[in-house]
Amino acid sequence: MRSITTLDLQYAHRFFGFKGEAQYLHGHTGVLTIEVEDSIEPGVNMVFPCNEIQKTAWEVLKNFDHALILREDDPLLPAILKVYEEQGIRDGAPTNKMKGPAFKTELATAYPECRLVVTKETMTVEGMIKIVYDLLKDKLNIAKITFSSGVNAATQEYQPSRTIERCPLCGIALNENGVCPKCGYRK
Ligand SMILES: [Zn+2]
Ligand SMILES: [Zn+2]
Repeated sequence: MRSITTLDLQYAHRFFGFKGEAQYLHGHTGVLTIEVEDSIEPGVNMVFPCNEIQKTAWEVLKNFDHALILREDDPLLPAILKVYEEQGIRDGAPTNKMKGPAFKTELATAYPECRLVVTKETMTVEGMIKIVYDLLKDKLNIAKITFSSGVNAATQEYQPSRTIERCPLCGIALNENGVCPKCGYRK
């Protein structure tokens, strides 16, 4: 069975080199849906608590929220960094508190200090699904990711390859020692 969670991401981007209005910088509220598949953990009668899926995903994905997402070869990138530098906000500002952990994958690098994500490919809805799967595939048994942004939407199914051992008392994943990080249950 599947547990499903949805979260919103507000971001600015553009399609560099695209012959259409999306070549101009603009913003969206994107809606990301993550479906996680596993057996039902009998203790809690759930696949996985949805708020925990959301928490796990948000920890990484908050780097995309209220962020600017630019392709690595976009000439706006050095131009914007120059302005941030001159303003003294490139390496952070006291009001920038919603920082996720910096990450670097083959597809994207997050710079949480200045709310920027640099991508290898154009950040279309399809591109975002690839990035999200790459970031979360080792943390969640992802069966499907759907991302919509304005009139654009895309979806991709995956074959979840394993069963995650979960706590029979609160449903979250047990750590490598078989202990629940939330309630302390031991297998
Ligand atoms: Zn757009
Ligand atoms: Zn527990």
